[in-house]
Parts: sequence; C-alpha cells; structure tokens
Amino acid sequence: MSGSGLGRRIVGASDLRRRDGHGSGGMHWTGHSLRQRTLREAVECTGIGLHSGQPVTLVLRPAPVEHGIRFRRTDLPEDEAEIPARYDHVCDTRMCTTLANRFGAKVATVEHLMAALAGLGIDNAVVELDGPEVPAMDGSAAPFVFLLECAGIVQQAAARRSLKVLKRVQIVDGERRCELLPHDGFAVEFEIEFDSPAVKHKQGRFELRPDSFKRELAAARTFGFERDVQQLWSMGLARGGSLDNAVVVSADHRILNENGLRYDDEFVRHKVLDAIGDLYLAGAPMQARLRCVRSGHAMNNRLLRQLFADRGAYAIVPAETVPAAWVGEPSLSVAG
Ligand SMILES: [Zn+2]
Repeated sequence: MSGSGLGRRIVGASDLRRRDGHGSGGMHWTGHSLRQRTLREAVECTGIGLHSGQPVTLVLRPAPVEHGIRFRRTDLPEDEAEIPARYDHVCDTRMCTTLANRFGAKVATVEHLMAALAGLGIDNAVVELDGPEVPAMDGSAAPFVFLLECAGIVQQAAARRSLKVLKRVQIVDGERRCELLPHDGFAVEFEIEFDSPAVKHKQGRFELRPDSFKRELAAARTFGFERDVQQLWSMGLARGGSLDNAVVVSADHRILNENGLRYDDEFVRHKVLDAIGDLYLAGAPMQARLRCVRSGHAMNNRLLRQLFADRGAYAIVPAETVPAAWVGEPSLSVAG
C-alpha cells in the first residue's frame, strides 16, 4: 500500500441504498428482556474487497428466528451457495477471516461485518454477496453499522440466547496469548505490540453495551505497514488496500492518511473490533471476558474451537439473564 499505485475504492458507503422497503426503521434496545433481532428490510451496498481488489455487491436481508447469520454467494449455484457464519466453517485466517462450505464456496474478510452484527445485536440475517469477499468499505465497521441502521432492526418472537463461558479457555503460542474467562456481560481486553512509534497505545479494554460499540469501536479502521506491502501483494493479499480503506504507517513511522487517526488508539480499538467479529462466529453473543495479547484471527478461531471442544466450558443460557452490565455507560480505558 505505497503512495503510488493505490487501488481506489470504486463505490463507497455513500452509495448504500435501501432495497424494496418502506418505513424508517430504527434501533430499539430493551435492556434485560432480550429477544432475537433481525433487519426490518433488505439493504445493499457496493464496494471492493480489501484483499481481492474486486468489486462486490453486498445485500443484507431479514431472516427468521433461529436462522443465525448465513452468507450466500449469489454468483454460485444455489444449492452450493450458503456458508454459515460459524467458527467451524473458518478455512483461512491469514490477514482476515475466511469462511467456506463443503462445496468449496468461500467468503473472505467477514470480521468487520460480523462485528457490526454483534455490536448491534443482530441474531438472524442473510448476507448475500456476488463475489468471494465482503467489501472493505472504509476499513472499519462503521459503514456496516450505518447500513444496518438504515435497514432498521426489529425484535422477533423468540428469546435471545447467549453463550456463557464457565471456565477459563486459553490458547498460548509463544508470546501470543488469548483466553476466555467467565464474566457477566462481554468484555474484551487487548494488548498489541508493533515495532513502530506510530503505535502509541498498546492496551485497551472494552465492554460491549448498547450504543458503546457504535461510538467507541465501529469507526476504528484496519491498518497496515508500508514495509509489509510487497510481501502481502506476493501472497495475493491487500490488492484492494488503499488509504481509503486502511490506516497505513510509512517506513519512517508516519501515518500516511491525510486526516490521521480517528482515535489516538485506533490500532488497539481495531484489534478489539476484529476479535468481536471473530468471536461472533460462535453463533451467539458471549457472556465472557476475552483477554488477548498480540493475537489475531488465527488464535481467535483456535480459541472458539477449543471452547466448543470442552462441553463443560460453556452453557447456552437465555440472554435475559445477562445482568445490568448490558445497560449503562461504556468503560473503555486505555493504558500505555
Ligand atoms: Zn480488521
């Protein structure tokens, strides 16, 4: 992602438009009494894939109760096109999270959209794509939050369930670590380590609550280092990357984006955002505390696989039992 030869986003969030719908929608959080939620109506946008560089149209559609989040490739035969948004369908975690089904149909870079769905508490939706990658938009989850709010969010006639972590589950890989711990509500703590003075804040803690996701995390963009670009391109990655959809740090540790960072600690916030998206592939919101040190998509997925491999490590509980931690002011605190 050097200054010259940057790919340009073809169509961005401003081109999103409501599909076949009516009414203005709106968000309704109900505090303790949680029911499943879906979209009021379909909505679509167009953009390019961060890694593929290819244009793609995304359509988000309402889905019935107990459907979950499922991707559908509209450019493939119908009976091979559906890919459940679940941890056991993750097939690749290099630089992004990619899902696949048994027919080999894939969809890449699902994590920012999944984070938006988790952050707004959407249980059921169909995600249609006419290509193999979710559009990058601006590199954050904010355009997806905007899209979902345009569609409107409605409650459904079934109780929401959450995944309650009952004991510690941990993945350690050298200096990298991530673990799930019992917790009321859902909190993420993240510690990053990048060898660049441009990355000033190394730690963050976030508690997911109504509206806090949108305000504190959604706009944090993906980021990359100019020094890594050639290697990424040789791996077929980041082909659609540009200053329009990523924060780029130069070899001399400058932020190349004209308007700088959106948050002082945008890097660590984005890692929290990624983790929230990856963990929503559990298929339900979590009651847990996630602690990560230098981890990423691969470890997030290993952590979920380890959790589900131990039947005593979790319980499926009605989301009504989520206590007051879901209500009130957010508590992002940053040190370092
Ligand atoms: Zn990301």
